[in-house]
Amino acid sequence: MSAKPEIVLQGTGVSSGTAFGQVLKIDSRNRVIFKIEVEDAEAEVRRFMEAIEISKHQVENLKSRLEEKVGGDHGVILDMHFLILDDRVFHDEILDSIRRNRVNAEWALAQSRDHYVEAYKSLDDEYFRDRYSDIEHVTERILMNLSGEQPFSLSNLPDGVVLAARDFNPSGFAVMDLGKVRGLVTESGGRTTHTAILSRGLRIPAVMGINNLMSLVSSGDGVMLYGDTGQVILNPSRKRIENELKKPVEQLPEIGPRRRVRLRTKDGVPISLCANIEFEYEIGAAKANGAEGVGLYRSELLYFRYPDGKPSMEDQLAAYRKLAEEMKPSPVSIRTLDVGAEKSLPSEKPEQCANPNMGLRGIRRSLRSLDTFQTQIEAVLRAACFGRIEMILPMVTTIEEIRDVRVLIDETHRRLISSGINAPYVPLGVMLEVPAAVLMMESLATEIDFFCVGTNDLIQYLMAVDRGNDQVAYLYQPLHPCVLRYLAHIAKTAARVKKSLRVCGEISANPFYAAILLGMGFTQLSMNSLSIPLIRRVIGAMSLNDAQKIARKALTLKTAKDVYEYLTPAVTRAVSAVSIDVDFGSWAAEINPGPDIS
Ligand code: PEP
Ligand code: MG
Repeated sequence: MSAKPEIVLQGTGVSSGTAFGQVLKIDSRNRVIFKIEVEDAEAEVRRFMEAIEISKHQVENLKSRLEEKVGGDHGVILDMHFLILDDRVFHDEILDSIRRNRVNAEWALAQSRDHYVEAYKSLDDEYFRDRYSDIEHVTERILMNLSGEQPFSLSNLPDGVVLAARDFNPSGFAVMDLGKVRGLVTESGGRTTHTAILSRGLRIPAVMGINNLMSLVSSGDGVMLYGDTGQVILNPSRKRIENELKKPVEQLPEIGPRRRVRLRTKDGVPISLCANIEFEYEIGAAKANGAEGVGLYRSELLYFRYPDGKPSMEDQLAAYRKLAEEMKPSPVSIRTLDVGAEKSLPSEKPEQCANPNMGLRGIRRSLRSLDTFQTQIEAVLRAACFGRIEMILPMVTTIEEIRDVRVLIDETHRRLISSGINAPYVPLGVMLEVPAAVLMMESLATEIDFFCVGTNDLIQYLMAVDRGNDQVAYLYQPLHPCVLRYLAHIAKTAARVKKSLRVCGEISANPFYAAILLGMGFTQLSMNSLSIPLIRRVIGAMSLNDAQKIARKALTLKTAKDVYEYLTPAVTRAVSAVSIDVDFGSWAAEINPGPDIS
């Protein structure tokens, strides 16, 4: 092991813990796909559909094996693969290409894959962006079945391996002997990929996003990986190995059963945790993780499933109704179409103007496409007959926008009532994403029922940082005192005007931010459902009083770095009296405080 020099690599730690073992390289995507002209396009269509059926069967099988291993909730991760395999729009696009271009199924599939992967990778939102890996994994499976290959066998692994892959399909966890796998390291992927989520669930230390990994490692190399810091050492020196092996092994407690009782802080303040979802099928995971409702349904994902970007009223009603019925009696907040800027509909080219993030986005755009908007409003109002539905407007800047929407809602409501559909009142909320709207909250409050803070965008606009621009990414600082002051102002104003308030941005899912939000007075947080159990444990272990002290102190600091250095130990201390299974190290590592900019 000492013959080769140590190589230190840096990636993103996505599942905590330290692992040492021998690399087993899994290089599944070295395939070259040729374009072949076919005479019998219909035979190619049949070949493709057969491969789809085989793939569906395999995924179903893997899902039940995964559920047996990791527990019921994690099997839903493979539902995403099933959904892609079952997606009519996806099939039609490929079948159409086979027939129109008279090409082989592999080529048509690869073209579609590249198109979708590119579209997902260009998104700002980390969770959405990471969904590209699901598309790659599913197409890889179909390609494998088209060629009749056998999957790389993970069922007969040697002991003590660290798997190294360009990308790792989460379904692989279903077929491997988990006792033999010490760690996982990949070239692509991030914290919100399903592979990362499952690694955490399975307690397998994992690091993702290491450039050129596959050209640097060989099977049999020694490797030490640190899931907390994202560091990976190839060919670790004997001294390093000895030092690591001397450290006491941390015994992590087992994950306990999900509690369904109302979440309260240690001193009894009720807190509500809801789920952010993008697809109807996520409702199962939201409920299983204890969500008290859907705090944010990003309806644009429904539009993305239609090649012309226009689901009909009936299509939308079916989706919204399903959400309402399955979540009943808890509420579901449907955010109206939020496209523009980096999120463009399949039928449109991304906006070419100089500042698309400040262009025709969200509600601005809906108010320019009234037919499309009215169709959505009607579907939302009708869905409210089947459960508790709320409506949220994205990217609101002025009170006039809300008034214009009200006119449309009232018109549609009257029309439905006169045609005998007894649609109930639908509470209306606005996303606080634009700083102007935050400073006008008191006025906006007279027109709406609740506020929803979209910190992902608010931080972008507040700090004047285009999230897609790497050169200024260091300024995207969620802990910057300016952001904290805005949030504190939001919490105070909402309380003064007596409006319900929730945070829907990604920060809700990080225990450190969750603690500071609690201390500022936020009592409703909405996040990806898999983070709910973690945030539940943290909030349940804190008192409001401690959280308030932390928030007060953080608000006096001058830089994001100062806040970071104060916050991370303070929160860890505040929950330390209660024994909870939270790996604070990896969550702290996730926050990039950025350099001092003061
Ligand atoms: C936000 O901006 O914080 C938000 C929740 O909306 P999205 O991530 O969909 O832009
Ligand atoms: Mg937003």
